[in-house]
Amino acid sequence: MNTAVLNLLACPVCHTTLVLRKQKRIGVRIISGNLYCDTCGKTFPIKNGIVCFTASHEKLERKKLKQLRQTTILQELTNRWQHLYSPRELRALKKEWNWMLTTICKEKNTIHLDFATGTGRFLRFISSYTNGELVALEHDYATCTELLYFLKKIKKYDHISIVCADACAMPFVNNAFNSVSSWHGLDEPFIQGAIQESQRVLKKHSYFIGSGIHYQKKSKSFILAKKTSILFTTKESILRFLKTAKFYSVVHKIFFVGQWNEKEDYLPIYGDFYSVYGIKAKKK
Ligand SMILES: [Zn+2]
Repeated sequence: MNTAVLNLLACPVCHTTLVLRKQKRIGVRIISGNLYCDTCGKTFPIKNGIVCFTASHEKLERKKLKQLRQTTILQELTNRWQHLYSPRELRALKKEWNWMLTTICKEKNTIHLDFATGTGRFLRFISSYTNGELVALEHDYATCTELLYFLKKIKKYDHISIVCADACAMPFVNNAFNSVSSWHGLDEPFIQGAIQESQRVLKKHSYFIGSGIHYQKKSKSFILAKKTSILFTTKESILRFLKTAKFYSVVHKIFFVGQWNEKEDYLPIYGDFYSVYGIKAKKK
């Protein structure tokens, strides 16, 4: 974690700023230490430069780490993941990403938050664009360690800090970021909480930008998700979440309509029509 991020961190429970203890630094980077909340009495460790607010750092599965590394080597470092997309899908994705970039702050003295970062496919794209600081929020520690490996390999780690936390309980003070993004983080459960939190941690008059998928109404995926109470977003629900979180100037845009082609996925169901949407909104 870069020291520039330290002042933005807060307890995810009570939002009190945290006290850093037993730290080890290399240059502007804090490699290890403990962050202590005076109000709750809770301690959050920094491990390998990753700030940990979830318990996922306590036990790492060897098998999972191996799988993640395989994907990094075979797909991400080589950009071979692009072969998983049809030419039409890839064109739509590039349009979607470029549209998302237009709201991300790129000036040197700015700080941007990306949540549900995963192993960094979209973050890599942002990092080539912005000169500001970046914070990547991801809830799983194994994925965070892989993200760290990936960013070091592509030489993009210098201006990025990795925070392992829940997007519905962001460990940041209010009004911290110049922009907030999430590429398909809106497909995750409990997205309403993440939208509320994005609003809280954004500076005034700043943008939230995200994307996700909608199932076609009355499709098999739509019916199955409803039947099994799996949370998913419709255009109406995402607009409602943003309104509840007091966002304004909302723009909803469809980038792609097609059939799902992953046979192994539980949802969406193979062959079902779906659409990829982007959404941007401003904090008052
Ligand atoms: Zn606290």
